[in-house]
Amino acid sequence: MSILQSLIEQPVCSAGKSGKVLSVDIAVEKTLRAVEAVQDIEHVALGEAKNRVAAVSIHAPMSVPPFANSAMDGYALSTSSFEGGPGVSGEWRIPVTDRIVAGSSEQISLEHGTAARIMTGAPIPDGADVVVMQECCKRDGEVIILNQIPKPSKNIRLAGEDIAEGELIIPAKRLITSRDQALLAATGIAELAVYRKLKVGLISTGNELAEPGQELDRGQIFNSNRVYLNSCLSRPWLEIEDYGIVEDKATTIRELVREAASSCDIVITTGGVSAGEEDHMLDVLKQESAELEVLKVAMRPGKPVTVGKLGHALYLGLPGNPYACAITFMQLAWPAICSTANLKPIAEATYAIADFSYEKPTGRTEYVPVSWDEYDDTGRPIAIRLGKSASASLLPLAKARAIAIFRSDCSTITKGDQITLMPVDF
Ligand code: AMP
Ligand code: MG
Repeated sequence: MSILQSLIEQPVCSAGKSGKVLSVDIAVEKTLRAVEAVQDIEHVALGEAKNRVAAVSIHAPMSVPPFANSAMDGYALSTSSFEGGPGVSGEWRIPVTDRIVAGSSEQISLEHGTAARIMTGAPIPDGADVVVMQECCKRDGEVIILNQIPKPSKNIRLAGEDIAEGELIIPAKRLITSRDQALLAATGIAELAVYRKLKVGLISTGNELAEPGQELDRGQIFNSNRVYLNSCLSRPWLEIEDYGIVEDKATTIRELVREAASSCDIVITTGGVSAGEEDHMLDVLKQESAELEVLKVAMRPGKPVTVGKLGHALYLGLPGNPYACAITFMQLAWPAICSTANLKPIAEATYAIADFSYEKPTGRTEYVPVSWDEYDDTGRPIAIRLGKSASASLLPLAKARAIAIFRSDCSTITKGDQITLMPVDF
């Protein structure tokens, strides 16, 4: 997050709910404070570990490579076979007495003045301190001919050269990557401890909602938040319990929210968090004795976003308007979800140059979808503004390459100003 804004900002227009309007930073802080991180650990096979959260730090149980081996196809020999230092030219004929291939378990000791044919990955025989590439010598029957004295240790990979036994290879609380999987495999680890999957319940409220694929009745719209959130949350470290659409009826919503809170770590609802007559979430939360942390946030869009605790579950009430839903998801829900999963959110801010001027009222942080085709001399995108940041708009969000964040205390953005961007893809 950016520098802390004022603790409590004054509403510029009321969303109707009573309660303090919090700055974005304070709202995020309060939301994160309400998080109860998952503690349960399970073991998964290495092949299943991608994008799971490492529960413990892993130290290499062995060195890699486990033994000194050849980095090249060539000849292993000892530099003590030569008189003179590395690089000295001449002609040396060295008998080849052994042949060592990758996977060979034979313990071979080279006699002084002899060489072993050796393949890449094969163990270095005792008595050898260099591998001469096959391209750097001539073979003449059972003899190789060298014209230069090699440098000791050349083309030998030492035991532990890549990974030392005991070295930290995976720090706890981060996602396992495919590179990590390779690293773990190299040290012989077949399964690992990860945090259990986070369970997130999703509820779409609204009498007007229909699912794509259904016929739209008069007055209905398609549910876009549901697929958006499902898609954003589609992660191997997370399990979604999708409760679908629920009508704007307090008793029905209450039943479902209670069920979701009893079995999920996080419950996300969309819609119904404003103060209209058909916005029932606040009543339901009160009836369920939720501890409400955030009721209104000084942001545009997204002001009515609501956060609380429902028993052990974190409740995230996102506004129904699709752009507001997406922005509050990115700004408040995502950090909380990551934190519950024991992950640090890694939505790093980047910068661009505004190719537009813009006036905004102070008092609310604004989130403006932007895109760009060009960059300035220092590589910063030259950003154009998309749409009017209306909370119900989806097209600008879909076209955006990032979201520009205009702080609550900023009132004028002038063409050429540096602006802060947050990533738009989740
Ligand atoms: P609400 O937050 O329930 O007052 O809804 C605000 C606006 O968002 C209304 O115009 C709703 O029709 C719309 N809306 C609510 N939920 C969804 C949804 N899941 N998908 C698309 N639009 C929605
Ligand atoms: Mg509604």
